[in-house]
Amino acid sequence: MANSRSNALKQVQNRRPIAPPDRPHKTSEIFAANVFTDEAMQQYLPKDVYKKLQRAIDQGHTVDRDIAESVASGIKNWAIEKGATHYTHWFQPLTGLTAEKHDAFLTIKDGQPLEVFSGENLAQQEPDASSLPSGGIRNTFEARGYTAWDPSSPAFIFENNYGKTLCIPTIFVSYTGEALDFKAPLLKSIEALNDAAVAVCKFFDRNVNRVTPTLGVEQEYFLVDRAFMDLRPDLGLTGRTVIGAPPARGQQLDDHYFGSISERVFAFMTELELESYKLGIPVTTRHNEVAPSQFECAPLFEEQNVAVDHNLLFMDLLDRVARKHQFRVLLHEKPYAGINGSGKHNNWSMATDTGKNLLSPGSAPKENLQFLTFFINTIKAVYEYADLLRAAIATAGNDHRLGANEAPPAIISVFIGSQLSKVLDEIEKPSRKKNKDTPKSYIRLGIPKVPEILLDNTDRNRTSPFAFTGNKFEFRAVGSSDNTAGPMLVLNAIVSNQLREFKKTVDRKVVRGKKKEVAILEVLRAYVKDSKAIRFEGNGYSKEWEEEAAERGLSNVKQTPRALDAYVAEEAVKLFSKLDIFGPTESHARHEIRLEQYSTKINIEARLMEEMLSVYVIPASVSYLTQLGESVEALQDIDAPKASYQTQMELIEEVSEALGQAHRSGKELTKALEVGEALADARDQAIHYGDVVVPIMAQVREAADKLEFLVADDLWPLPKYREMLFMR
Ligand code: ADP
Ligand code: MG
Repeated sequence: MANSRSNALKQVQNRRPIAPPDRPHKTSEIFAANVFTDEAMQQYLPKDVYKKLQRAIDQGHTVDRDIAESVASGIKNWAIEKGATHYTHWFQPLTGLTAEKHDAFLTIKDGQPLEVFSGENLAQQEPDASSLPSGGIRNTFEARGYTAWDPSSPAFIFENNYGKTLCIPTIFVSYTGEALDFKAPLLKSIEALNDAAVAVCKFFDRNVNRVTPTLGVEQEYFLVDRAFMDLRPDLGLTGRTVIGAPPARGQQLDDHYFGSISERVFAFMTELELESYKLGIPVTTRHNEVAPSQFECAPLFEEQNVAVDHNLLFMDLLDRVARKHQFRVLLHEKPYAGINGSGKHNNWSMATDTGKNLLSPGSAPKENLQFLTFFINTIKAVYEYADLLRAAIATAGNDHRLGANEAPPAIISVFIGSQLSKVLDEIEKPSRKKNKDTPKSYIRLGIPKVPEILLDNTDRNRTSPFAFTGNKFEFRAVGSSDNTAGPMLVLNAIVSNQLREFKKTVDRKVVRGKKKEVAILEVLRAYVKDSKAIRFEGNGYSKEWEEEAAERGLSNVKQTPRALDAYVAEEAVKLFSKLDIFGPTESHARHEIRLEQYSTKINIEARLMEEMLSVYVIPASVSYLTQLGESVEALQDIDAPKASYQTQMELIEEVSEALGQAHRSGKELTKALEVGEALADARDQAIHYGDVVVPIMAQVREAADKLEFLVADDLWPLPKYREMLFMR
């Protein structure tokens, strides 16, 4: 066997679980130990400052300058007691990752060393972020970017074996006010949703003063041993195998899902959880996923802004902790061809400050009507802006997953289950026959009764991209490596827009003398009728659904470059600017950045493929041909019967054919890349990559994978799928 590969295999076979650090008897003892929690605030801030800060946080306001100094001093004292030496503004640039620039607390004043962290340091920082993407915003406006504190997400201390850093969650904006990150627009969308939802809540309950979106992100990921990763430049640089033949035994047996977790992985998970708890990330479930070496972890849901931050931190922890355990984590949407990819299921709902989940059905008729209002408005919003929602999850990685019979298709639809389908049907066509189970109070208002416990809770449709699961919607089509703020801000925006629309229409009817409940029900009835096409209860993976969806007029855009068009379609640009989330410049800037990211990703993968072809695949195949040739020659030399080298002759032909195909496709790829790299327009370029480069890459891969099957195992230098996926 190729030496390096056999060494890697030996290393992996000899690995033992690495014991995680000691864990306290009770998890609650360390939970949020590294977070500036409410409790810490009370302890480290003067009473009046604490109160003012709390008020700002609860109401989503900015913090007054006059308390910033005092808050900063409290945070500093807390952080220094915990052992932090540096601080950083922690922000979410459009790269999709998080960014930080550390500064020491240390300063020298009048010749004396001392620790300083001022109100100014807390509130604002000016990172030299000129290399972060801005979609041309910074050039156009010649403005620098600055970061500003987001008090609604608590400060925390990030620690590793070598030091501790105080992290202040911040937004990142240009001096002219354009957002250069994910957090700023997310916060604006949360405010827009709050305004619209509170106004609608007032129809039912005057006491509601704040509505916050809630989010629980289930995160899927793969683990691979670092020894294998080191031998696979594609995994290392792109997070996915650009070549590699799926094993005969893939996930057909489905024996990995919920299977027992190996000890080595268990040790890793234990440490991962420990680190998460310290940061206040409430991870609670862990299990194997469908594919071999694939896992999932889910936290308890939280306020959306915090949940997004926590998911980003969690991805960071995944990477760091995996390294300590001699693993590498793969967050790519499709690390292995022919094996299920990874997603992030975004469980989304809305909660009031009176403690009610607006997507949870209640028992009284009024509560029911409130539930139906938010439920139906969400469905209508998804119907109206399905293309925008599709655009929100479009990335080069996710293209491999959506519509590949393993994840929801690229068609956006909503699954609600049979019980709620019946309820909506009843709203649409109220039956004259009285149902004897329906209480009088309902009949009088004409509100259909929603069962309090929804049976569909268990009878899930896992093929739907947007499924109602009892008391929340689960947006399942989000990519595993994405910053969820992107899709979440779109969801908040379209629902808030829809709720505004709803409120206006109901108000108009009420002004004209309609009873409020009747008006609400009338509008809901119209929405149920209008948005019917988006509801689909069947198998989303099936060919029939693609056909039916086309008949229903639903879009099915399979590749990112064109899916992104919806982001800058007139309705979308208007929507964002009406809700004060993005101005037109920002919408276009983001579109541009995402096109560029797509092209860059494909370009890197393709260039790597070219290289791997010429430095691994072709040489290994040529060596094998040589071996075969030498065997034939040797047999001929001793006048062996023809039959003794017949097979070798046939193999020479097969290998040569696949080799020729690989080589020719490789050349074609090079040409296509040259054309692509020369294109100046971002959209033209991305479309070229999607339409031309991606199909050629598939050809190269086919030939390379054929060779992997043909070439003698001991000559093949790259770790194979079965090794990477099944080694423990
Ligand atoms: P499954 O794998 O069956 O989809 P999980 O239990 O793994 O379910 O994940 C469900 C997720 O939904 C959890 O993160 C949970 O906290 C979250 N969730 C539950 N209720 C709400 C809610 N009201 N709003 C947002 N997320 C919620
Ligand atoms: Mg789920």
